[in-house]
Parts: sequence; C-alpha cells; structure tokens
Amino acid sequence: MFGPTTLRGVEADLAHCPDGAMALVVAAATATGRSRFTGLATLRRKETDRLAALSAELGRLGIEVEAGDDWIEVHGGHPAAGTVATYDDHRMAMSFAMLGLTTAGIRIADPTCVAKTWPGFWQALDQMVRPVATEVVAIDGPAGTGKTTVASAVAGLLGGTRLDTGAFYRSATLLAHRAGVDPGDGPGIRALLDHADLGYTDGAMRIDGEDVSAAIRSPEVNAAVSAVSAHPIVREALVRIQRRWAAGADRITVVEGRDIGTVVFPDARLKVYLDARPGVRAARRAREAGTDTAEEAGRLAARDALDSGRAASPLRPADDAWHLDTSELTVDEVVAAIVERWRASTSGQ
Ligand code: C5P
Repeated sequence: MFGPTTLRGVEADLAHCPDGAMALVVAAATATGRSRFTGLATLRRKETDRLAALSAELGRLGIEVEAGDDWIEVHGGHPAAGTVATYDDHRMAMSFAMLGLTTAGIRIADPTCVAKTWPGFWQALDQMVRPVATEVVAIDGPAGTGKTTVASAVAGLLGGTRLDTGAFYRSATLLAHRAGVDPGDGPGIRALLDHADLGYTDGAMRIDGEDVSAAIRSPEVNAAVSAVSAHPIVREALVRIQRRWAAGADRITVVEGRDIGTVVFPDARLKVYLDARPGVRAARRAREAGTDTAEEAGRLAARDALDSGRAASPLRPADDAWHLDTSELTVDEVVAAIVERWRASTSGQ
C-alpha cells in the first residue's frame, strides 16, 4: 500500500530556509544514501531542540542519524512503523505526517499540536491524498445485497483490488468488545483506534498484525457494529485510513460500504447502489450463515434502521449513484452489469 521513494541523498546548507529543514530531514529518511544538512543552529532553539527531537524520533523508527551543533546527517533507508512524539512542536507533527504517506504504521502521538499554525492541516492532507476519481468504483447498499461477493468479482475482472470498509467498523467494534468499552462510548472507542494499527491486505483484516477476519464476524460484533459506526469521531478516523489505503493502491480500487459514494469517495467515477427486497436479503444471509431466515430478517431490519437513520454519514444512495436491484439477478449478472458500466465510463479515454 505504501511504497519506497525515489529520492537520493543530498548535501545542503539550509541556513536561509530553516523552516523547511525538518520536512527535508524526514524525507531524507526514505532516500537512498546519506544526506547532510548544515546551517541549522537556530533549530536547537525553537519550540523544542528540533535537531535533538528529529534525531530521537527518526532513531526510534530505526533510521541512523547523527547531529552536531548546527548540522544533521541522515542515513536513508526503510523507516519502521511507530508512534512519533511531537514535543508539542507543530513542525514535528507536520514533517512526520509526510513520512506517513510512504511508510505504513506511522502514528503522530499528539496530532492536535498543529493547531498552533494550521488547525486545518489534517483535513488538508486528507484532501491531498484522496485518490483521483478514475481509480474508484464505489459500491454501497444495505447488508445482504451481495456487495462483498460482487466487489471481489468486479475487482478481479478489472484487474483491481477490493476494500471492504465494513471490516474497519467491525474492527473498531471488536476492539471495544475486547477492551470492555461500551459501544455508545465514541471517545473511548476512538482512543482505542488511535492506539491500534488497522491493516487490510488481500481481503484479510488485521489489528496490530493479528488476523481478525473471522473474529469481526462474530454475533457480538454483528450486534454492536451499527452503534459503533454511528459515532462521527470513530468514522473520521476510519475514513482517513480508507482514503489513504486507496491512495496507496496502484490499481483500480473497488470500495464497498455504506457511505463510499456519498462521503469517502464522492468523486468516484462509478457509484453503484445495490439493493434487494428485504426477504431476499434475509434468505441470502440465512443460507450463508446456516441460520433462520425470519431471525436474519429481524437482525437486518434493525441494522438497516440504525445505518439509515443515523446523523453521521447515513446509508443512502449518492445522487449520482446507479441503482441496481439484485433481487432477481444472479451474482454473475450483477458483476457483468457493473463491469460493463465501468468500461462504458472509461471508453474513449
Ligand atoms: O458491510 P458490513 O455489513 O460488514 O458492515 C458492518 C456495519 O459497518 C454496517 O452495518 C454499518 O453499520 C457499518 N458500516 C458503515 N460504513 C461503511 C461500512 C460499514 O457504517 N462504509
């Protein structure tokens, strides 16, 4: 999802642009070879001793750094994942945020310190990394409409990759369940997310490296996931991860969820809203899970009501979404229709 940079080490006297030095020093951590920056005496006397802070935090990520009174030398390489301390210095947070674009698992310990000079920094960064519209197929719809099966097949046929955003809300719910945090406690769940590393690769969901793909489908998670997903503070963190995931993908990304066309990727070239009659959806679920259709119908109706009725990013079709009722269609028919629609949208380009 993240990739190596093509930067090469440099030597530069930065006496005339010390404010840009920190971003350069951090970028040098991903370059090939050694970089040496001089003329940096003033950095020792800013919000914090910035040369010491850079050395400590890059060192924590496994990057070899040496520093003197007014210089710093960085041996570029492959920074490891880790949490970066900011020393209450906005430029530390902003510089290491850039590293997060190329290195998985970089977390900023105190992201709010950017408020000193640019309160909207994180939102601006999100906008910048939002993938271009042409790369995304957004598939939204209620549970039991076949989104996952369809999204996988569409991704396969288009040579793309699939992102299941429901797995992220399920992971937040699993974290809360394991920690004994109430599904109604948004800030408590957000705090858990801020200390967890959520990864999604080849259809497998991981929390801190543990494959939780099965655990997030448990009855406990099913029962609480809609309540957890209703918190704006939880959604904000998960939407950020989802956008960055797609931004890092080098292929068409088929993203399935509830708010993909409306909130996460409003610029997606193709937005599909899958639906099916409630009885059909319940029967499909029951067949998959080996459960009772009437019970599934009750559970789905409850989840639909919560997902559609919440204030934050409710389940609804985007204005420009293409509606497809799958009640009378086979999976193959649905997949073929979406692929055809996608090809039509890209033809002539
Ligand atoms: O897709 P799945 O059924 O696994 O999603 C589980 C739950 O996660 C949904 O019922 C919904 O509450 C939440 N969700 C969401 N936004 C998304 C994806 C899922 O709120 N984009």
